[in-house]
Amino acid sequence: MKLSKYNFRLSIKDKTYIYNSVSNSLIELNVNQADYIEGGLAKPGLLYGDDYKEFDNQLLKYKIICDDEDEINNFHLDTIACRFDSSILYLTIAPTQECNFNCVYCYEKTRTSVYMDEEIEDSIIQYIKQVNPKKVVLVWFGGEPLLAVDTICSFHTKISKLSFQLEASIITNGFLLSKEIFLRLLDCNISQFQITLDGDEKSHNDRRPLLNGSNTYQTIISNLQQVLNYCSIEKVINVKFHIRVNIDRSNFSKFLDVRKEFLIHESSLLCIHPALTKATDCYGCNCFSINEYVDFCLELLKKNGIKTIDLYPSNKITECFARHINSYLIGPDGSLFKCWHDLGNSEMCIGNIKDRVIKNPSIVSRYIIATDPYFDSNCRKCSFLPICGGGCPNERYLNLYSSQNNNTCTIYKHRLKELITAHLELKDKCDKF
Ligand code: SF4
Ligand code: SF4
Repeated sequence: MKLSKYNFRLSIKDKTYIYNSVSNSLIELNVNQADYIEGGLAKPGLLYGDDYKEFDNQLLKYKIICDDEDEINNFHLDTIACRFDSSILYLTIAPTQECNFNCVYCYEKTRTSVYMDEEIEDSIIQYIKQVNPKKVVLVWFGGEPLLAVDTICSFHTKISKLSFQLEASIITNGFLLSKEIFLRLLDCNISQFQITLDGDEKSHNDRRPLLNGSNTYQTIISNLQQVLNYCSIEKVINVKFHIRVNIDRSNFSKFLDVRKEFLIHESSLLCIHPALTKATDCYGCNCFSINEYVDFCLELLKKNGIKTIDLYPSNKITECFARHINSYLIGPDGSLFKCWHDLGNSEMCIGNIKDRVIKNPSIVSRYIIATDPYFDSNCRKCSFLPICGGGCPNERYLNLYSSQNNNTCTIYKHRLKELITAHLELKDKCDKF
């Protein structure tokens, strides 16, 4: 046993803390405790002193003293168990790849006008029956999924006859999300709605026009206002709208203007958060660096009291569903993929839901095993691994197999102290021994 390499000693406003990324705990230390740990660090034999038995027990409990190899292997084991947990099925379904928008940065390789037919719907139902999960996490994706709202409703009628817990959401551009369509989706038990705005009206319209070039911002805002008003009046409480506002160096100053559009609505229904644009939604190479993004979020918190970023880390035992064995993105023709970014890319297709045979197991093993950060010597050495999880599996895949150089490191790697300081200012409480 020794002091864990997953400890971070933080001096914040005359106080000393120890943060451990395996137990994800933050402990305030008094001077004697800090000296005791420092002594142990210099001479490991000093730990487990007679006067410090109780304290040693606490250090063990919070994994501040441990055998690092065991700790990280145990963590890895829990992570692997989640990857192969067959009680949950993660399905992302694109009922069409057609889209009514012509976003300037659209990454979808093909936008064919294929729509999902009954045969594919029934094959998905058969697959769900075969796996027989306790819970299905279902995301409607596209193209623009609301172009195929009849397919969505037809599919939900079929799955409602099966017995499992359903968590359903939709990612839509919001242009077709009228009150009438919203009510149909509510009937399908879809409870989470993610809508993207590319900043304020001008920058959004420049980047996310309709296919014919027309503006889209006001229609989306008007749709959302009507739907949110309906939810408030009718006391619909089991839904949440996530409005993702893509920000970069050219439009970040307008984030608060977008927020103002929704000020009258209840925060329980709505979450508006700035999102970092990446290569996939880059416009004019004005993307924020991760540090600029964190600066922006901390400034919002300090000046406006708006919290848009997780200040405190969370452990990453549960990873992106691309690493889950029973997780697929299903295209309109039944094609199967592991990641949303692969939709429509025939080279990344792993099979078809109709025959349920994995024809390209290498892609599956690359996502689940080859890009596993626990097998990466850099990540393995890194003290942030338990709260990072190695980042996006697709970016790691592209780094490994397409010679890309995506930075997959967690924001905490460079900003842990500032983020935890902001967390303490907000909560002003943490455990003490
Ligand atoms: S692998 Fe990355 S891009 Fe693909 S779904 Fe997961 S987090 Fe998103
Ligand atoms: S991706 Fe970066 S921060 Fe995350 S574990 Fe690997 S080296 Fe550490």
